[in-house]
Amino acid sequence: MILSLAVFVILTVALLPVQAQDDAAPAAMPTVAAPATPTVIPRPLPAHVLTAERTTVELYFDGLAQGQTGLIRAVGDGLAGARARFLNELVDFFPADDGSFYGLISISMEQTARTYDLDVLVWYSDNTRQTINTRVGLVIGAFVRQEVNVPPDKAYLVDPEIERNELARLESVFSTVTPSVLWGANGFQLPIPGAELTSAFGAFRNFNQTMQTRHTGWDLRATLGQPVMASAAGRVAYTGLMDIRGNIVVIDHGYGVFTTYCHFSQVHVTRGQTITQGQVLGTVGNTGRTSGPHFHWEVAVNGEFVDAVQFTQMWKPNAPPA
Ligand SMILES: [Zn+2]
Repeated sequence: MILSLAVFVILTVALLPVQAQDDAAPAAMPTVAAPATPTVIPRPLPAHVLTAERTTVELYFDGLAQGQTGLIRAVGDGLAGARARFLNELVDFFPADDGSFYGLISISMEQTARTYDLDVLVWYSDNTRQTINTRVGLVIGAFVRQEVNVPPDKAYLVDPEIERNELARLESVFSTVTPSVLWGANGFQLPIPGAELTSAFGAFRNFNQTMQTRHTGWDLRATLGQPVMASAAGRVAYTGLMDIRGNIVVIDHGYGVFTTYCHFSQVHVTRGQTITQGQVLGTVGNTGRTSGPHFHWEVAVNGEFVDAVQFTQMWKPNAPPA
């Protein structure tokens, strides 16, 4: 049976900090804190609840902006699994320790702002299934504009083709989805805890007054050689030298969630290695298309770069006990 619940999600505008300064300026060495001890943060109240015959679907967002991630929960008697269809993508839900299933939907920073259909497909242990429909309103992101100048020896990297090729390589890394929750009970944290965020995700950038592009991550103020730690537990999906991102580490956290750490001077981990939250991955450097030493951090969900800070702050459930 198909239930059609026309719930209109109210639009909200996400206000990002407006900080248009450049990446480079070094600062005093911030203290690197050890990862927090496990804390149980109770599940927040959902913004919208859709009830079907046997299942309740909860949306933990009240509209989404370009570049944001939204959390959905499905819970019901005999529920065996769930999947969302949104923006022509299928998103598998993951089981949580409370017996329910959660899915993450991600919005490209370039997605046209309007209302989209969201279908949540659920199935039961008796092999019956059901679709719950709603609509989600997307609004434009509050993105800043920036002028960025890279020095003459790196000016050849201001090239749309180099950028396209690098994105294609990353997309191929992000396309291998591990169907298990690898992030731990503490969720995600800033890779340099307490570091100042200097340049925002999604910024419209004009490089050397010649090339317009978008900022795919957040920049953190950091000094050369400072340790950078894993945002959450996972497995190293890629390490290597890229033209724009320099020496990078990509960590697979499962269910299409990847974090990427860029411009390293040194990398301390290898591909395939299991990583704990807070483990040192490498040191801050100036490799790639930089205007000075800094740390650039990206989160991709279901193949889209999303706002890493919004993703980190978003409440997430724990994985079920193994
Ligand atoms: Zn950056």
